[in-house]
Amino acid sequence: MNHQRDQLLRIYHCLLDHFGPRHWWPADTTVEMVIGAILTQNVAWKNVVTAIDQLKPAGLLDIQALAEAPKEQVAILVRSTRYYNQKADRLQAFARLIVEEYGGELENLLSLEAQELRRRLLAIKGIGKETADCIILYGAGQPIFVVDAYTRRVFSRLGFFSEQASYDQMQAFFTERLAPELKLFQEYHAQIDCLGNRLCLAKSPSCALCPLGECCAFAGQALRGEEENAIAMRSEGTQE
Ligand code: SF4
Repeated sequence: MNHQRDQLLRIYHCLLDHFGPRHWWPADTTVEMVIGAILTQNVAWKNVVTAIDQLKPAGLLDIQALAEAPKEQVAILVRSTRYYNQKADRLQAFARLIVEEYGGELENLLSLEAQELRRRLLAIKGIGKETADCIILYGAGQPIFVVDAYTRRVFSRLGFFSEQASYDQMQAFFTERLAPELKLFQEYHAQIDCLGNRLCLAKSPSCALCPLGECCAFAGQALRGEEENAIAMRSEGTQE
């Protein structure tokens, strides 16, 4: 366990040195952060930026205004985020909950203890574990380890867990090994997403450019495969 904790910390520092601080979550206010977390489900971040840029001048990065706006207006403004009718419903369900149960103050919800906050968030239609945990980590500023599809891809390739690992299994893996430090958890998740987005791609990962190449089981296998192919080709050439 201690050995894996040291490995996880080495990987973290290696990524941080390579990519630099990611300054997550990219938002001017906590309301904007939460809206971004809801909108980013199943869509690239650049599409969320477009939607935020539409909501901002319309005055809808505001809980009360968002709760009261006509649904059609919200849906049109967030149409860059796919399933935009559904996303508009989710945003407004969230905003109305804050208005009706938390006096219109997002902070009243976010100041709940982490596990209680998580239960409340997961009870809201359309908010799953990853979204809830992003809101807790970056919105409420409470240390909970966020995992996602990039975490699964990168850490299964590194050899830490299976590609079939569930959300809870992946989260427990990190939580059981790392001290719950807010800055570490915030930055680690951002670094993993940067690696998954830029280098550790699904179809053709750029292992030669990756700062984790030397400790990666997947890269090692790929390299051995290339060497074996080269040896086989050389030996075929010799026989001819
Ligand atoms: S070495 Fe390749 S497979 Fe391993 S983490 Fe880096 S990009 Fe992904």
